[in-house]
Amino acid sequence: MEKKLPVYLSKKNGDLWLTEDEHESLNISYRIKNIIFEENSPFQHVMVLDSYTFGRMLVLDGIVQTTSIDGHIYNEMISHVSLCIHPDPKRVLIIGGGDCGVAKEICKYDSVDQIDMVDIDKLVVEACKTHLPKVSGGLSDPRVRFIFEDGVKFAQNKEDTYDVIIVDSSDPIGPARVLFEKSFYQSLYKALKGDGLMVCQSQSPIFHSEVMKQTFERISEIFEKVKMYTAVVPTYPGGLWSFTIGSKRYMNFNPAKLSQKDTYYINEQIIESCFSLPQFILEQIKI
Ligand code: SAM
Repeated sequence: MEKKLPVYLSKKNGDLWLTEDEHESLNISYRIKNIIFEENSPFQHVMVLDSYTFGRMLVLDGIVQTTSIDGHIYNEMISHVSLCIHPDPKRVLIIGGGDCGVAKEICKYDSVDQIDMVDIDKLVVEACKTHLPKVSGGLSDPRVRFIFEDGVKFAQNKEDTYDVIIVDSSDPIGPARVLFEKSFYQSLYKALKGDGLMVCQSQSPIFHSEVMKQTFERISEIFEKVKMYTAVVPTYPGGLWSFTIGSKRYMNFNPAKLSQKDTYYINEQIIESCFSLPQFILEQIKI
């Protein structure tokens, strides 16, 4: 008897399809070659699929998180902008980031001594290290300390510890909902050193404008400086994606820091232009 397919997958004319439920009236489907890995963790349903268009992809609860073809755009954009703004980042905290793509980018900075990566779900990290090498790069740098815990609980106990915090969360449903709350950003403020800064993914300006606006407002209420930037990530709904930086002191980037890094998407011109926001976003966040 054939094994029952996970609810997110279906067969049409002999082909396997993943259908992502984006919105009440929008579905996106990907034709799938193979199911590479599939298991339930205590937190979510975890799959690594091999797709025709985007290569291998990590899928959590039926939602595409990152892929071999476009994962680098998101991971470089959420990592290098803040690392080039802070003049001397030594201790970096990643909350979420289970695909290890962000940690891989941070490891490109020699100044960084320690990277604490706190993901609630060990299964995601193990699956990506083994089955998603293009994104995770295998990741064996000894500076990375894996901590499997809820990011909110971890951050609550930290004070004056990190130079940079990167919140690489999944969408604000399920276990990641708490990573969009104001009390969490307050804990991050406390966990940062006196000149520290944080960055988070703040969702689609087109399909999740309320979340984006709320995230920007919440971070503005806590941090001395706040800025939003965008990038286009093809597998995220609408393509256009927003990121929000909250900083206690620094907001100017140093282009020289990026020059020697091995990147595929980000460069000096991208960092300069990514803060230029379309008019509809400026109106939503009222700056
Ligand atoms: N780049 C992706 C995106 O924008 O969709 C997200 C990448 S990463 C896979 C998201 C990670 O957040 C997952 O590995 C998930 O386990 C983790 N996560 C969700 N809720 C969490 C929480 N409360 N604490 C720590 N990690 C959490």
